[in-house]
Amino acid sequence: MQPAQPLARTFRLTPLQQKALGKLGIHTVGDLLRHLPARYETIEEVRSTASLAAGEKVVVYGMFSQLETGKTWKTKKPLAEAWLSDGTGRIKVRWFHQPYLAKMLQEQTLYKVSGTVSGSGGKLYLSNPEVTRAEISAREMEASLFRRNAKEEISAKANGVHTPTLFAVYPESHGVTSRWFRHAVAKAIAAGAHHALEDPLPQEIRARYRLPTLATALVWIHQPRTLSDATAARKRFAFEEIFTLQVLLAQKRRARQLRPSLTLAPPKEAVRRFIARFPFSLTRAQMRAVDTILADLASEGAMARLLEGDVGSGKTAVAAVAVFAALATAPPDNRWGRVQAAYMCPTEILARQQFESFIEYFRESGVRIGLITSSGCRIFPSKVRPDESVKISRAQLLRWVADGTVAALVGTHALIQKSVTFKNLGLVIIDEQHRFGTLQRATLTRKDQRVPHLLSMSATPIPRTLALTLYGDLDLTLLDELPPGRKKVITRLVRTKEEVEAMYAVVRRELAAGRQAYLICPRIEEPDPQKALALQAKSAVEEARRIQEKVFPEFRVGLAHGKLTPAEKEAVMRAFAAHEIDLLVATSVVEVGVNVPNATAIIIEGAERFGLAQLHQLRGRVMRAAHQSYCFAVCTTRGGATAQKRLTAFQKAKNGFALAELDLQLRGPGELYGRAQSGISDIGMEALQNIKLVEAARTEAQQLVARDPSLNAYPALAARVAEKEILHME
Ligand code: ADP
Ligand code: MG
Repeated sequence: MQPAQPLARTFRLTPLQQKALGKLGIHTVGDLLRHLPARYETIEEVRSTASLAAGEKVVVYGMFSQLETGKTWKTKKPLAEAWLSDGTGRIKVRWFHQPYLAKMLQEQTLYKVSGTVSGSGGKLYLSNPEVTRAEISAREMEASLFRRNAKEEISAKANGVHTPTLFAVYPESHGVTSRWFRHAVAKAIAAGAHHALEDPLPQEIRARYRLPTLATALVWIHQPRTLSDATAARKRFAFEEIFTLQVLLAQKRRARQLRPSLTLAPPKEAVRRFIARFPFSLTRAQMRAVDTILADLASEGAMARLLEGDVGSGKTAVAAVAVFAALATAPPDNRWGRVQAAYMCPTEILARQQFESFIEYFRESGVRIGLITSSGCRIFPSKVRPDESVKISRAQLLRWVADGTVAALVGTHALIQKSVTFKNLGLVIIDEQHRFGTLQRATLTRKDQRVPHLLSMSATPIPRTLALTLYGDLDLTLLDELPPGRKKVITRLVRTKEEVEAMYAVVRRELAAGRQAYLICPRIEEPDPQKALALQAKSAVEEARRIQEKVFPEFRVGLAHGKLTPAEKEAVMRAFAAHEIDLLVATSVVEVGVNVPNATAIIIEGAERFGLAQLHQLRGRVMRAAHQSYCFAVCTTRGGATAQKRLTAFQKAKNGFALAELDLQLRGPGELYGRAQSGISDIGMEALQNIKLVEAARTEAQQLVARDPSLNAYPALAARVAEKEILHME
């Protein structure tokens, strides 16, 4: 059996199975072997029904028969009963109060039943046990129940028969059961298919970290004899995934560094004067970032840097210095021209705000600044009114961008359309970069023959392991310091009715004083994203109505949710920015990306459902207020201890990075960061909790790529990397 062999020719598949496998991307025997279990079911402690005694907590496997529903003898409460048989005997199972549970059971189906044995003597029964469909087959169950005999065990081993006590359970998939996977994988392994797969991990790396070979790891992960085998195999696959990704990132980085870029080295004195014109002095963190960036721009090879800093940490000023460095440089072929800079924002309002602040920063330098969005274009300065910007046609703006007249171009994703060409693009800045896909990032930086320097900026604090993994092709600079004199946002946890009333009183006082506020509706967990959007929108509409009618009838309540068109969203946010709305009710899917300094309060409903980093980002909306501001984290349902711990951390936290790390520990990466967008598997996600593993994988990858950039000596690895690239770029 060869790994490349199509599954359809190896196994008899029903159309449903074929469809389900296709959906999982499993087409060949090799794909099948690479489809890894999510966890294991162990039936080591399974009991036979014949051996049970009252009071014990037990797990039994068996089939139900003689299902009956009725009422309890004395109290007339609803009751269901059935017999559970497992081949050694049978025991009664009783469901009080919830007879519907019994009705969902099927006969001739093996179930796993866990609960406490009640009754006495010969009248034992299990009451209200937990019942799930068994992940193992009746044969597997029997094999393990009756395999108690040590002699048998030894002879089975001698014959090479695998009698598992750990059963691989595969990720939920509609149409293919874990049992099917176990069976199919066993067949492939028995036929030696796993030996025909080439190991993408170089031997010396495997040796250094004591990782099992691919063939061994496949056996261990699918058919482990012990949990420690399974763990060792998982570690190997986690390492392999992160390593492969890091190789890809290292290659990209290298390719970028090899392509010619413009050396942007403005006179130091000019930069100093530019910075001195800011109405504030830079924080130490800003100065460090500026120095690093200027050094990047002046050296050979294109910069590719991620600037991460909390909302309000002053990323714009840093970006402005970088833009200045570009604009103050003459292109090599034209002493009088200017190198151009492009600045991309996620929304029109942000682009407009950015355009206005660039006018302030560069007013005196005499450069021309353009704005391009899908709803129109502007230019500064205008010939008629040198102090203002004016509307111009898109065609005119594009001509001026193409001939180099416009030196700085600010815009939305309209910037990356094919029709936009630059004369001398030297620098690209992407604000709130997490909102653009990798592909979009790549497009913008490919606009010119020479590679422009790239500065990505993000206010989403992410843990270091994740930053290295998702943005590993970028260098990382943190702005971990806020400008001085900021008032700390007062954060309160709101749990009781009285606290809710007190919260409304504070918000009412703020609104009455002419301030504004946000109300964020709870996140709704729902696997289908379209459905989630609809549900969320519905709850926002209801909440807006309730708040308007019952709580704040005297104020103007606005509404923004994910079901609005982009134009509608822009309109609402514009109205909020213009203070035509006092209180904005919004879902979290609506990124309220505008800076409204007049907003001093934010209410976050269902706070326990948000990640800490996300809560922190929501709180950032009122962090720039000129007045004292408030954040209310509402958690009126009884959250568990973890929820309490998280919210208390949120209340006390100094910056977003600490929260992001804590989030990673408390909730795990899978919960926090959609894997769909990252192309990282569950196993890879688990690895993100292990900074040592990530750093080792990164170092090894960089060394390998430095030695052998096109992986000539590592064809199996090259093939894995190519697959990864497709995933990562989608
Ligand atoms: P963000 O990092 O969220 O993009 P901005 O660059 O918009 O933050 O800066 C937020 C506000 O802080 C702006 O009004 C800006 O003028 C101001 N600011 C930036 N740097 C400093 C500083 N070093 N000292 C005082 N205020 C600053
Ligand atoms: Mg910003």
